[in-house]
Amino acid sequence: MDSDTTETSTRDHGFDLEADLETRERYGLRRTLEPAADVSARTRIDSRERYVFAANNYLGLATDPRVQRAASEAARAVGTGSGASRLITGDTELHRELEDDLAAVKHTDRTLLFSSGYAANVGTIAALDPDVIFSDELNHASIIDGCRLAAAETVVYDHCDAASLAVKLRSRSMDAADDERWLIVTDTVFSMDGDVAPLAAICDLAAQYGAWTLVDEAHATGLYEDGGGIVQRDGLSDSIDVQVGTLSKALASQGGYVAGSDTLVEYLVNEARSFVFSTGLAPPAVGASRTALQIARDGARRASLWENVETLREGLDSVGYRVLGETNVLPVLLGERVDAIELDRRLREQDIVAPVIRPPTVPDGTSRIRVAPMATHSDAAIERCLSAFETAGRDLGLI
Ligand code: PMP
Repeated sequence: MDSDTTETSTRDHGFDLEADLETRERYGLRRTLEPAADVSARTRIDSRERYVFAANNYLGLATDPRVQRAASEAARAVGTGSGASRLITGDTELHRELEDDLAAVKHTDRTLLFSSGYAANVGTIAALDPDVIFSDELNHASIIDGCRLAAAETVVYDHCDAASLAVKLRSRSMDAADDERWLIVTDTVFSMDGDVAPLAAICDLAAQYGAWTLVDEAHATGLYEDGGGIVQRDGLSDSIDVQVGTLSKALASQGGYVAGSDTLVEYLVNEARSFVFSTGLAPPAVGASRTALQIARDGARRASLWENVETLREGLDSVGYRVLGETNVLPVLLGERVDAIELDRRLREQDIVAPVIRPPTVPDGTSRIRVAPMATHSDAAIERCLSAFETAGRDLGLI
C-alpha cells in the first residue's frame, strides 16, 4: 500500500508583518490613524478641541453648508453611487456638468473625471505609453507609480531645475530614435516644499525637443486665477499638453481630473485603465466639487486663504523661523529630526496640529513642520498658532 508521502516543509513562505512594523517603530517611522470629529479648521481630536494646520481642505469648503447641501442634493437627485463605470451606465449629466466647469477654469477643450487624483496620474501616464519620461526628483508618489506602470525609461532631473532637465534632454537625445515618445512630468506646487515648478522654462524645453508635458495641479487647483492653478496663473494653458488635478483638496470632496484636448480626453476614455475599469465618481462628490469650484471662482475664499498665509508666513519669519516656498503651504525648516519631532509634540500640547515631515519623506537634515493654513482659520486661530510656535521655539532654543 502506498504510504502518504506528504512532508511538512521546514520553510516559511509567510509574511512577518509584525517584524516590519517593529522595525518601523524602532526608527520612529510607524504611523497610526487618529480620528477627528470632523474636517473643520477647529475640531475635536483625542477628546480635545484643536486647531488643524495640516489639512489640504485649503478653502475650508468641505464643511461649508452650501457644499454639503450640493452633496446631499446630488445624492437625492442622482444617487449615492454611480453604480457602474462611466462607459457602462455610470455616466450622468452631473459628471458632464462638472467636467465642463473644470474645462472652463483650466482653459482646455475638455476634462475627464477619475475616482482620485492618484488614479488620474497612474492611469493617464500609463495610457500615454511613453518611451521616455523625464521626471522631477520630488514628484508625488502617484506620478512615480504612473512611471513604473508605464514601464518607460524614467530619467530623473534635479528638483525644479530647468538647467538639469535641459542637460538630461540633450544627453538622452544623442541616442534617441525619431519615433520615441517623450513625456516631461512635474507637480506644479510641491506640497512638502511649497515651491513651484519652472513651468515656462519646461514648456520651452518641451517645444525644443518635441516632448509632451504633463503637470499635476493637485495642490494648486482652485487657488489661483478664477479658481484655476499655477498653469492659469502663468498663462500657460495652451502650452501644457496634460493637466492633472484633484477634487480632494481645495475642491472639498474626492476624485481626480485630467484636462486637455478633445482628442486626449477621447483617448483616455478608451485607454486609461483606472478610468475604464473603475466605477464613475460618486454623485455627492461631483455635486460637492461643482459648488466648491463655483465658490473658489468667486474669489472671497481665496482672498481669505492668502491673507492667512501672509500673516502666518510673516509671523513665523519675524520670530526667527525659516519658512520655505512661495505658496499657501508653509514648510518650517528645522533640520534635525529630533528638533522637528519635539516641536510637533510641543505644538500639540498647545492644541496646534501641524505635522512633522521627516526622512525618508524629505532628505536627511531637512526635517520640517508643514503648516497648511485654511481660509476658515479665524484671526484667533492664526494668533494661537503663531504664539504656540514662538513659545515652543524659544523653549527648545530653535529661534
Ligand atoms: N498629486 C499630488 C501632488 C498629491 O499631493 C496628491 C494627494 N496627496 C495626489 C496627486 C493624489 O490625489 P488624491 O488624493 O485625489 O488621490
